[in-house]
Amino acid sequence: MGTRIITIDGPAGAGKTTVSHLLSQKLGCVYVDTGALYRGVAFEIQQQKVEWENDAVLENFLKTLDLYFVMENQAFVLMSSGKNISPFIRTSDIALLASACSGKPQVRAALLDIQRHIARTTDAVFEGRDMGTVVFPEAACKFFLVADLSVRAKRRYDEMPDEAKDIHQVQQEMALRDNNDIHRETAPLKPAADAIEIDASFMTADQVVEKMLGIIEKAGKTQ
Ligand code: C5P
Repeated sequence: MGTRIITIDGPAGAGKTTVSHLLSQKLGCVYVDTGALYRGVAFEIQQQKVEWENDAVLENFLKTLDLYFVMENQAFVLMSSGKNISPFIRTSDIALLASACSGKPQVRAALLDIQRHIARTTDAVFEGRDMGTVVFPEAACKFFLVADLSVRAKRRYDEMPDEAKDIHQVQQEMALRDNNDIHRETAPLKPAADAIEIDASFMTADQVVEKMLGIIEKAGKTQ
């Protein structure tokens, strides 16, 4: 791999998005939110009312799926067959459906090339669940970001003031997603053997980024 790839995996709400974004700015590279791809699949399943639990139906649907990122104002937006779907994929219903259908190996296989293709041409910080374990096992630096469930639920709750959900519901949905993501057979959520785990429960995003930068710099010197 000629490019420098940093991976950040971890459960929902651990702060991966904020941290990945800040880190990519400090490193002067792009930031790729791979969860958006899984949410994109879920969005199209929902729109087209696809019976995704049926393998034959799912495979036909995946053949017609045309998801890709385009760069707009120095950030990637997610496109589906020519339409910008980024504004529609951030709901908790889409998150739950993404978590459910991302257990299907066919879905994961369909998204693999999109992720690896980006990494071939540019340095990047990739955020997801299986970046360090499956998609980029050769990454230059791998992080696994964790935080207490109650802290994560509070953060997510504060981010979505428009949704009529209480914090207990947010926490329950998050626990359900964690459970799906950790226990699925294909590419489960877990730290790569060489990932550095950071507990962000009591750290600000800036503190996490500073810590990561220190580790990346040190790793660069020993390579
Ligand atoms: O990161 P985000 O919360 O947007 O991801 C939504 C869902 O997509 C996750 O709960 C997970 O099931 C799935 N996902 C995945 N692998 C990734 C990124 C996300 O399975 N690399």
